[in-house]
Amino acid sequence: MPEFETIVAPATASGESALAIVRLSGPRCGDIRISALKSRESSLKPRQAVLARYHNIKGTVVDHLVAIYYPAGNSFTGESMLELMCHGNPLICQLIIEDCIERGCRLAEPGEFSRLAFTNGKMDLSQAEAVADLIHARSEKAITAARKQLEGSVGEKVKMLLSSILHTTAHLEAYIDFPEEDLPPEDQQGPKHDLKELIDELNQLCATQHYRSLLNEGIRMVILGLPNAGKSSLLNALTGENRVIVSETPGTTRDYISERMMIGPYLVNFVDTAGIHETDSEIEQAGIARSLEQARKADICLWVVDASAPSPALPAALDQVFEATTTLVVENKSDLPRHSEMDEFLETLPHFQVSALKGSGLQDLRGELLKQIESGVLIPDEDMVLVSARHAEALETAKSHIQSSLDLLQRDEPAELAAQELHLAIEAMGRIIGKIDNESMLDELFQSFCIGK
Ligand code: GDP
Repeated sequence: MPEFETIVAPATASGESALAIVRLSGPRCGDIRISALKSRESSLKPRQAVLARYHNIKGTVVDHLVAIYYPAGNSFTGESMLELMCHGNPLICQLIIEDCIERGCRLAEPGEFSRLAFTNGKMDLSQAEAVADLIHARSEKAITAARKQLEGSVGEKVKMLLSSILHTTAHLEAYIDFPEEDLPPEDQQGPKHDLKELIDELNQLCATQHYRSLLNEGIRMVILGLPNAGKSSLLNALTGENRVIVSETPGTTRDYISERMMIGPYLVNFVDTAGIHETDSEIEQAGIARSLEQARKADICLWVVDASAPSPALPAALDQVFEATTTLVVENKSDLPRHSEMDEFLETLPHFQVSALKGSGLQDLRGELLKQIESGVLIPDEDMVLVSARHAEALETAKSHIQSSLDLLQRDEPAELAAQELHLAIEAMGRIIGKIDNESMLDELFQSFCIGK
């Protein structure tokens, strides 16, 4: 963005509310604070909330509002900024924004404020991404993780790893500069040892991507069972909404439906699948294959059975799923007389009796689900640095260059080649915090933000 431009945008969602915020960034903020707010230099102290009247360019008062002025260097974007807290009427916001445009401002693009913060060095790229994560976080734990990233946890970890790579590179380059001086064997071992440690650390960091998706997307709980066992009814009863179609004709949930809800502090993504049973219908077979695919990706499976009917024969493919995943047997329809075979059915797995229809047993089931999440699903602890898919991709690239460097050293190839690989690793890691020159990647990243962020 050219240096002389000033951008303006609503920073709050559109709609009627008590207050709304219009945000400006750029050199015109100083003029607007004086001409539109009619404030003298002294009356609008930097970073202090001041009650003012906003006058449009014709001199008419548009609103009484609270204004905060941030001088350049000491603001979110690094430029001078003005935040106007007007009454929460979208029309008032619009009038103020239109007036700012008449005064020479331009409407901001989505994510442009955060992009300015990044380009002006107020935050690294991982922190700028965290702004979007914080806004979109759907659970308390996801908010904590995003806040830590905003505070710089990913950036710090990456900088620490970068400094280890740089240290090893320097070690190798010293060897290149003085090839005639044979390095003592322990000095040759040093870089190999350090590179192996780095690979371990990168592996650990990449693995945290899974935890992060658990926080953001939710723990995957997949509901499986024969048609008519009451899967859809159970999902409705648990989520308290009547979103899933309940039908008396077996086989109506042909595909899967997912519904998010909180269990304790955890975001859970319940997936209701098509009934699993033997069938000749092609459509149903496709649905069943998708159910099994969902089950393989599950963190926890709920196998729902109709406890008033004979226990079902299990399709063979399910054994593997049950072995690999925490599975609970939910004996549904406990309001009906219980069938005698139920006791021996999947007796090695924990059983729960509920009636999705009457709502009984659901409290216990929720309690058990919370226990299973806490004991069976790996939840990241508070101090863990969590990386996103984009970070993990850069870490994987860095790791493959470090591995190549190690291979070269182990084959006694020239240290120069090994050092070159480390430079490539440094470049890849740099992309996480923003040492990148790829403009289109930045465009893509910041466009996922909302306007005014
Ligand atoms: P799905 O095919 O497994 O998703 O089963 P549905 O949720 O569509 O339910 C199938 C039938 O069982 C419907 O007629 C429901 O009303 C009935 N049903 C579901 N849960 C219960 C329950 O707890 N008790 C009784 N008596 N009927 C139930």
